[in-house]
Order: sequence, then structure tokens, then C-alpha cells
Amino acid sequence: MQPAELSAVDLVAAIRQGDLTAVQCTEAFLERVARLDGSINAFLKVDREGALATAAAIDARRKAGKPLGALAGLPVAVKDALCTRDLPTTCASKMLAGFRPPYDADTVARLRAADAVIVGKTNMDEFAMGGSNENSAFGPVKNPWDLARAPGGSSGGSAACVAADMAPVAIGSDTGGSIRQPAGLCGITGLKPTYGRVSRRGLVAFASSLDQIGPMARSAADCALVLETIAGHDPLDSTSLAADVPRYTELLEQPLTGLRIGRVADHYAAGLDPEVKRGVDEAFAVFEAAGATIHEVELPHAKYGVPTYYLIAPCEASSNLARFDGAHYGHRSNPEGSHRAGSGGQAFESPLVEMYCRSRGEGFGPEVKRRIMLGTYALSAGYYDAYYAKALKVRRLIRQDYLDAFERVDLIGGPVSATPAFKLGEKTGDPLAMYLVDLYTVATNLAGVGGISFPCGFTRGGLPVGFQLQGPALAEPLLLRAADRFQRLTDWHLRRPKQIA
Ligand code: GLN
Repeated sequence: MQPAELSAVDLVAAIRQGDLTAVQCTEAFLERVARLDGSINAFLKVDREGALATAAAIDARRKAGKPLGALAGLPVAVKDALCTRDLPTTCASKMLAGFRPPYDADTVARLRAADAVIVGKTNMDEFAMGGSNENSAFGPVKNPWDLARAPGGSSGGSAACVAADMAPVAIGSDTGGSIRQPAGLCGITGLKPTYGRVSRRGLVAFASSLDQIGPMARSAADCALVLETIAGHDPLDSTSLAADVPRYTELLEQPLTGLRIGRVADHYAAGLDPEVKRGVDEAFAVFEAAGATIHEVELPHAKYGVPTYYLIAPCEASSNLARFDGAHYGHRSNPEGSHRAGSGGQAFESPLVEMYCRSRGEGFGPEVKRRIMLGTYALSAGYYDAYYAKALKVRRLIRQDYLDAFERVDLIGGPVSATPAFKLGEKTGDPLAMYLVDLYTVATNLAGVGGISFPCGFTRGGLPVGFQLQGPALAEPLLLRAADRFQRLTDWHLRRPKQIA
């Protein structure tokens, strides 16, 4: 078997046993990147040299009988929103082009300490704002199942590189669905852990009260393996949880007998694609056959999720992105540059203000600017109470809905996206249509709980359909166990895109 066909769990075992070297494994995936990424654009940076050097060092340590980390030799692709020492970190923005952070994000440091091999940085929507990966300053990512379609976003590069077997696992971040939705549209498995389960240190902040890092892989078992390494308390992220990290991989075995899964009637409202509905219905039937029971539950305020999210996330973003002013790091407008010709007669209070305005004007793309303006407006005197404070109150009600529902059921199931992967360009002219892509995912982040998405079928046209399970705080063992059981009973997650080989 080719390394690219093995699961992450099997790759780690093969390397540990000496059936495969870390160099062979890394080379196999890098060869696919070299061959396929020209048409997919999942990577913003491939660190061929660094990855092979790390792999060679791991092989040497193994040969010398030295101890190896839990992910020894496993290639991992990292979303370009996570800081990597000595490797560019751009957030797919011109604002950060050429930026090399002086430190590793906590997740990256943990991966390196576990002897994973960082193969590169993946493409994304600029500053993680988007649901199609078309907001990248470095070109959109193509969906490996149909190159004319979007992979979803914002972790579209991470999803597409796993779907195309260019890396066995990838790291994503999810503020309102950015792990789960692209996982769903690309036919892979993606876990958004409970808020605080994984440290956010070194994740370029979008909306700090919603952001969460998580694993993306071909199966729930592979996600469990990676989560075991990246989860845990970080004294340098005060919002990271102090709870112990369970051995997720060892908790998958228990059967689902007696598991109560909730179904939300509102999830079936108009707009749900019939082929998605069929896949979701069939997934519920698989869970029932596995011993779970299905119960109708209500999340009465979830319908306010999208408007609530699109106030809170831009408000936090407008504050977080204030640091990109051209003075500290990132793009600085060149005062000698040709822009003077295009100043449109604009007068600035001072050369400093002019430098700020021009640097931000040139560095940020249109969606990022839209969010900064939305957030600044909603936080300004006179509007704060009407918009931001009100959104916080609705957020509280949404969270309470989840707490109430989880009194009655263990998990909540449903679609992750209303439609399968849409065409590139289909929604770029209509920001509102793009925001509605997040219908089924934003409430999870507003409530601070966890969710996992995985493939539950295919459309007649051959596009993956995703199923989402949401669970209470710190229910990752149960989310992973339920998804893993589903994947033992079905083979949707084993299908590979035909367009690419
Ligand atoms: N699509 C949502 C947005 O545009 C979610 C993004 C995310 O989770 N990072 O904000």
C-alpha cells in the first residue's frame, strides 16, 4: 500500500515499527503535493527542505533507539493562521505577506514536540473570514471533488489537502464553522473542539471569544490521534481549559447503545438541498441501527445565530485587527510609491495617519474591510447597546438552548451545510448569501460547545454530503466515538475524488 492510502493511525504505527521510514512517508505526500497542488492551490507554502530534515532526524533517532513522540513521522499541514517560527504566516492576506513569526503557536509547538513533520502552510480565507476560500489574497482553493467548485472555508486549504491525500491530517481553525463546513464540502472529517480545549496562543486572532483550533483528517480516529497531542491547558492562554486531556484514541471502542441523539426540526427548513436531506436522514438511520435513539429537540434561538454571529465576530475582529497598522509588522505603505498618483485628493491629518490609512487600505482585502467597518460601527457610541450588547444577550439565549437540549439528549445531529459544494464565483457577489452558508455551524461557537462533521453520502453528481454532530462542553470523547462508530459502519469517508489520482 502507498503511504498516502494509509490512515494517520496506521502511518504512525508503520513508522514506529520500522515498516516505513519518516522520510519515505514525507516524500510520498510531498510528491503528491508537487503533482497535484498546481491545480488545487491548497498550500501557500510547502516546506520541503524543513520537512525532509525533520523526517531524517526522526529516522536517525529511531535507529539509535531513542524515544519518539506520539506522532513521530506523521506529515501535518497547518492552516496559515497559526504562527510557525521561521516559516511565513500570512493568514492569506497581503497585510502579512512575508511575515515570519518569532515563535510557534502552542499547537505547532505541541506537534513538533510529538515529532510530527510540518509539511507546509495551507491556504484560507483572508484572516479566516469567509466560507468558500475565495477571500484569499493568493487565489482560491479548488475542491478536489470538482475543480470548478469551492472547498468551503475558511480552512479550505486544510480540507482540500486532506481530501486530495496531499497530507494525512491538517490543522484548521473554526470561529463559525471553518473546520466543519469545509470538511463537509470536501468529504473529510473535522472536529471543532469545545472553546478552550486547544490553546489559541499563536493563532492569529479573528474573534477571540469564538476562535478554536482543531484537527481535520480522513477519519474520526485520525482526528482523535491529533487532538490527543494538541489539546491541553496552556498557561499562556488564559482561556484554555485546565481539564485533563483524555486518551481520545482509547475511548472509541464503547458501543453507542442507549446514546440519545437530538434532531432539530428547524434544520429541515426550506433551503435544505434534497440530496443533503437524504444523506442526513440516512445517517440518522445508521445511528439508530447502531443502538442510538433519535429525539426531536428544539434550539428556539438558533435561528438568530447568523445575525448574532455577524455582529459579535466583526466587533471582535475590528478590535483584533487594529494591530495591523503598518508600524509594528506586516505591510507598510511605501511613501515613495506610485499610490500618490491615486490619492484622489484625500487629505490626511498627519504623515503618520496617512501611513496607517494607506497601509491598511492596501493590505486588507474587501471582506476584511467590510468586517472591520461593520464591527467598528456596531461598537460605536449610540449603536453599542442596540447592536453589540443585544447580540451578547441573544448569544446567552442560544447557549441556554444548548444547555437545555443537552439535558434531554447526549448529542445533536443534523446537516453541516444546506447544500453540497457550490461553484467558485457563485456567491462572491453577494456577501449575505455567503454568510448564510454558516447557518448550521455558527451557533456551536456562540454556545462554546463542540462539533464534528464527517461525510454521510454523496450527491448523484458525486459531491460529498456532510453530517454534523454537536455535543456539550468537553464531550469530544463522545463526538469522536459516535463519528468513529459511524465510520466503522459506512465507507463514505474512504471514497477518494476521481478527478485527481
Ligand atoms: N464563514 C464564517 C465567517 O465568514 C466562519 C469563518 C470561521 O469559522 N473562521 O466568518
